[in-house]
Amino acid sequence: MATTSFTKKMLGVESPEPALTPPPPNAPATNFAKKPKLAAKPRKRDIPEGLWTKCPKCATMVFDKELDENLKVCPRCQHHFPIGARERIHSLVETCTFEEMDADMTSVDVLSFTGVASYTSKLQSYQKSTGLKDAVITGIGKLGEHRAALGVMDFSFLGGSMGSVVGEKLARMIERATEKGLPVIIISTSGGARMYEGMFSLMQMAKTCGALAYHAKSKLPYISVLTHPTTAGVMASYASVGDLIIAEPGAMIGFAGPRVIKDTTQAELPPGFQTAEFLLDHGLIDAIISRKEMKSRLIEYLSYLTANQNWP
Ligand SMILES: [Zn+2]
Repeated sequence: MATTSFTKKMLGVESPEPALTPPPPNAPATNFAKKPKLAAKPRKRDIPEGLWTKCPKCATMVFDKELDENLKVCPRCQHHFPIGARERIHSLVETCTFEEMDADMTSVDVLSFTGVASYTSKLQSYQKSTGLKDAVITGIGKLGEHRAALGVMDFSFLGGSMGSVVGEKLARMIERATEKGLPVIIISTSGGARMYEGMFSLMQMAKTCGALAYHAKSKLPYISVLTHPTTAGVMASYASVGDLIIAEPGAMIGFAGPRVIKDTTQAELPPGFQTAEFLLDHGLIDAIISRKEMKSRLIEYLSYLTANQNWP
């Protein structure tokens, strides 16, 4: 019975399916033979993942190990790749001096936000993929001889967005610095406020700036470091109120995106608009410092800014 129905199908009696009809024995090569060849071609050009990275600026293939050793800076054109918060802290503070604060603080889905995925599931997946609890790491460490409170954001966690945890961790760190008479350094990278938390995320702008105002009242220095990209709610709050504002080369810095500004002002934007270099020329930032020089320059600035202070 089975054999009969198979034969019938092959002959196209029951349901004509030309694509399933086997080719005659002496027919020229069909698509079946060609397809694998076409599919194999791009595979030859594939580069094993996790070994090489193509620089988006100069198109050089950089060996990942070399890139890591160079603090994620392209050795040929000095393009600054994104760097994780932990790696950055490691590149700045003296070994074993960093005491992390509020390491286990995690966000709560207060609005029961659900889009394509729920906020809770997004948080869980980002916590798993990045190994971070949220988009900022805060703590106190030593840069050279200087103890300083250091907050470092990580763009790989939900675009470095500022939710309640980012705001709360930074505010607590600033308050601790005020209490202990320490300078504050915040290294920002962010797409802005975290919309999953609605107005709770926007309130972080006032909270962090309020804490910084008390810090400033105690005549303590705050250095804001802007890295690619620092935009929207973060740029409109703590990132732009540093006593010194420094940036990494080529960083995109701004509030609204260029298209929104162009549509609103109906004017052509100047070349290089919203880059660190443009903002240095126009006085918004004080210096552009490459990642490899960041530590030594921060130490110099701290020495200068704390020269006449006799804090314990
Ligand atoms: Zn490059």
